[in-house]
Amino acid sequence: MAYINLNAKAYQHNLNLLAQKSGGIEKIMAVLKDNAYGHGLIQMAPLATACGIKRAVVKNQEEALSICDFFEQTLVLIEPNPKNAKIDSKIAYSANDLDALCNFPNKTHIHLKLDSGMGRNGVRQEHLEEAFALIKKRELCLDGVFTHFYGADIIGGDFFSQKYQYEKMKEKCKNLANHHNLTMPVFHSKNSSALLRVDGVMKDDFARVGIAGYGYTDLDSSFGSFDLKPVMSLWANKISSRELEKGDIVGYCGIFRANKNMKVSTYDIGYGDGLFRYNGNGILQVENQKPLLGKMSMDSFSLEGSEDKVCVFTDVRNMAKYFDTITYEILTKLSPNLKRITKPLN
Ligand SMILES: *Cc1c(COP(=O)(O)O)cnc(C)c1O
Repeated sequence: MAYINLNAKAYQHNLNLLAQKSGGIEKIMAVLKDNAYGHGLIQMAPLATACGIKRAVVKNQEEALSICDFFEQTLVLIEPNPKNAKIDSKIAYSANDLDALCNFPNKTHIHLKLDSGMGRNGVRQEHLEEAFALIKKRELCLDGVFTHFYGADIIGGDFFSQKYQYEKMKEKCKNLANHHNLTMPVFHSKNSSALLRVDGVMKDDFARVGIAGYGYTDLDSSFGSFDLKPVMSLWANKISSRELEKGDIVGYCGIFRANKNMKVSTYDIGYGDGLFRYNGNGILQVENQKPLLGKMSMDSFSLEGSEDKVCVFTDVRNMAKYFDTITYEILTKLSPNLKRITKPLN
């Protein structure tokens, strides 16, 4: 059966590197949304704890319920129906607009999302007074306030102007919290790219680290080079081997035709397991540089040779490049049904 190897030491290494910029590992929230970027939520949550992480960020309540015991608090980014929120200090919900503030049950633990320029989720500057008045009136527990950067990984001024806007809103939130006699919430804004760009140590209470923890960054090399190590490697096992004669074909549509007598083997992973579908055009190589032969099938692909197992990738960047996408997309699409095996910390 095809499987994913998780290198716990690589995760710890990446987090320790990022902790230098966050000001400590306890100031990192591990972003474990979307099955921990395909790595496996239930495998990565205890690993994060073992590395010293105290908080997690997930997509939905279901993910939060499955891992919240590992953390002091787990933040749910998306709750389409705020009325369904659980009242539990271990689970906090992103309040993505004023409407949500009207609908969370009293005493729900929330982090108020600020729209500091991304134009996606969050409350805008001009609605902050109204937001805090609602929080007070509805007796919501404001545990945190946060924003998200749209351009932390691009060159140019976008990141700085948004950061400036966030700092302004942060001050205003502090004043409003005091004004309403609320316990001061924690503040967080930085994702991986924004944290990697910090010179020295960040000022916020927390950073939300996803992709860099898993070993990747999309930051341009002009921002420096970072010693990140991929956590995941993907492996497949041989299903069968055969000897082809010159002129024999492999796979759907006969795209690959042997130009010599050769031995080929078929391996047990395909697009049905969430891998992007290679259509037989261009050259897509597995880790040992062998090219896939012909189109990828739903549950298999073929290579020359007869090794019992092959590593599909240890570094997903080559595949992301081939498919003209980002590392995040290849990783998150990997099926939750693939077996995950953790190489432990010690
Ligand atoms: C996904 C996400 C992150 C993590 O982003 P990375 O680039 O993977 O570090 C942080 N914050 C929010 C709100 C997110 O949705």
